[in-house]
Amino acid sequence: MRPDILNPLFAPVTSLKGVGPRLAKLFETLGLPLVVDLLWHLPAGLIDRSFAPKIADAPDGVIATMTVTIEAHQIPNNPRQPYRVKCRDETGTLFLVFFHVKGDYLEKLLPVGATRVISGKIEHYNNVVQITHPDHIFSPEDAAKMKPVEPVYGLTAGLSLRIMGKAVESALTRVRDLPEWLDPAYQQREGWTSWRASLEAAHTPERAEDFEPTTKPRMRLAYDELLANQLALGLMREHVKRVAGRSVTAPGTLRAKVFAGLPFSLTPSQRRSIDEIAHDMAQPSRMMRLLQGDVGSGKTVVGLAAMLDAVEAGAQAALMAPTEILARQHYATLTKLAQGSGVEIALLTGREKGKPRAAILERLAAGQIGIAVGTHALFSDDVVFKDLALAVIDEQHRFGVEQRMALAEKGDGVDILVMTATPIPRTLMLTAYGDLDSSHLTEKPAGRKPITTRTLPADRLPDVIQAVKRALDSGTKIYWICPLVDESELSDLAAATERFEALKKIFGARVGLVHGKMKGAERDVAMAAFANGAIDLLVATTVVEVGVDVPAATIMVVEHAERFGLAQLHQLRGRIGRSDAASTCLLVYTAPLSATATARLKILRDSDDGFRIAEEDLRLRGAGEVLGTRQSGMPELRLADLAVHSDLLATAREDTKLILTRDPTLASPRGEALRTLLYLFGRDHAVRYIRSG
Ligand code: ADP
Ligand code: MG
Repeated sequence: MRPDILNPLFAPVTSLKGVGPRLAKLFETLGLPLVVDLLWHLPAGLIDRSFAPKIADAPDGVIATMTVTIEAHQIPNNPRQPYRVKCRDETGTLFLVFFHVKGDYLEKLLPVGATRVISGKIEHYNNVVQITHPDHIFSPEDAAKMKPVEPVYGLTAGLSLRIMGKAVESALTRVRDLPEWLDPAYQQREGWTSWRASLEAAHTPERAEDFEPTTKPRMRLAYDELLANQLALGLMREHVKRVAGRSVTAPGTLRAKVFAGLPFSLTPSQRRSIDEIAHDMAQPSRMMRLLQGDVGSGKTVVGLAAMLDAVEAGAQAALMAPTEILARQHYATLTKLAQGSGVEIALLTGREKGKPRAAILERLAAGQIGIAVGTHALFSDDVVFKDLALAVIDEQHRFGVEQRMALAEKGDGVDILVMTATPIPRTLMLTAYGDLDSSHLTEKPAGRKPITTRTLPADRLPDVIQAVKRALDSGTKIYWICPLVDESELSDLAAATERFEALKKIFGARVGLVHGKMKGAERDVAMAAFANGAIDLLVATTVVEVGVDVPAATIMVVEHAERFGLAQLHQLRGRIGRSDAASTCLLVYTAPLSATATARLKILRDSDDGFRIAEEDLRLRGAGEVLGTRQSGMPELRLADLAVHSDLLATAREDTKLILTRDPTLASPRGEALRTLLYLFGRDHAVRYIRSG
């Protein structure tokens, strides 16, 4: 149970004075539903209110604080027009502009003839000097209350800095001293104050330097977050290892038989990975292994080898994919590969329903199905395996820790193999998985031609279309990718549909469309048509991002390339270059590009190494952006910035190891404090994994 001392922090923001349901919604859109979230919402900047010019000297766009006399109120005759208050000093006239004014509060706040101190952003608008919705209005007597510098917080439309500032201030009043969880020697060496003092300091910046992520208060908070993260992962790992595993051994006849039928031979790193996995599975403890390999490195056959071993050992295996498209594709691939092996493979997603589903469940429970391929649907309570020994999880970073565990609980001491294609920088990897054992596919299958990547501005689209025409005439298949960053982004969807219509006008029935808003079945039809040749040009949103495998496709056009994450572009690009024919990727951007955007596209043009790309992306943009979306399942770090704090991460790992060796039940006073830390960072689930004394 969460310690009582933390409960006030885990109340909804509506428990704060002045925050009602309407504001709560806005806080929610910022990802700040709870009081504790406000504590983690550190200021992003500073407003300096010390600039106090005369009206005539106030430049456009700056924050200024001015003493003025109120002259007149201009009340609008219709509510869509702004309410304006005319003010002046000895040098000129200033208008205060308000929208959606209700009642007469402005007349009380700004009585005609009175003197007021006003602070806000100066705008020069049609030769008039004005301030729209001033940040502060004080009477001269109260003006001293105004802070000369004020923290600035990330905001959203409708949520003013004043409201945010007040909410954070009131959240801070709920903070109590907490028992110290840091190692005393480490804390002293770093010169860090207590958690509470650090938090308060981080929220009351005084100078621009106070925002540096390397200030002591911010370092301390970042460390706290990383320690909670590493400790939670460490506890889970210990738990998994403790739950008795089982030794799964197979002579490997089944996989040898399947591999003999392949049109290629395995790469050295595929062989090595298969051996490492087989070795782990044979151990009596549970396997928790990561299989890392860039797109196209051939992870599927490695996963298949492990699954065939499980089946040969008389047990079952499951392969879980993050999307319907991928699950279906894996199913198709595995069925083909394992043809003639006698292993029954079944597909189980949200779309298998009714009788067919019941039949699958029955055969699964009876052990007739050796390998089940599916999506989250594999977690459903009614899915029962006779004897699940191995869970292979593809594109795992989309699944959270909880889900990983859920699949593992479907059998006794299930071995877990996580396949990740997104080249995640090592630092990010550690925060997502902790110290997992890992196998790497280091080389691409032989015979692959490198992909030529070119960047070009959108005004060259006519040339691109000419090139596409020539390529289609020579029998090439082409992906045409339109951005759809957020599935609810209707304008993006419209753009993709529009592009589809336009290309159809030129190329006719050879053009198809897939996007995330299409029904699953429709999407399958389009994908299948592209794979077997009915369609040669596929307009797609990012639904094709992961894993889709159509080797005959050798050209990819990406529109608005500047809007994608680098790792995501690399993933997309990995859809081509899958055959022995040369491939080309055209990254079409909309000018002008910022310096960062230019640098990012250049990296992609110059490198085909997913890990290098990911590291560079992390350096250029920071961790939150590397994976493109927040829903990626990667733990969200709010205080630590891995581009800056990777040393802290290394220390947190070491610290965690020591803690788990010396005090695995977290029973010492420091252990108790560490439990509080876990709760403070919402790692409640990890507390369940603490070994009881
Ligand atoms: P990923 O690691 O991206 O999941 P896949 O497993 O989808 O890669 O493999 C990509 C393609 O490479 C598939 O068409 C697969 O059949 C093929 N492939 C896998 N291993 C080899 C190999 N050793 N030699 C040649 N082709 C291979
Ligand atoms: Mg794959």
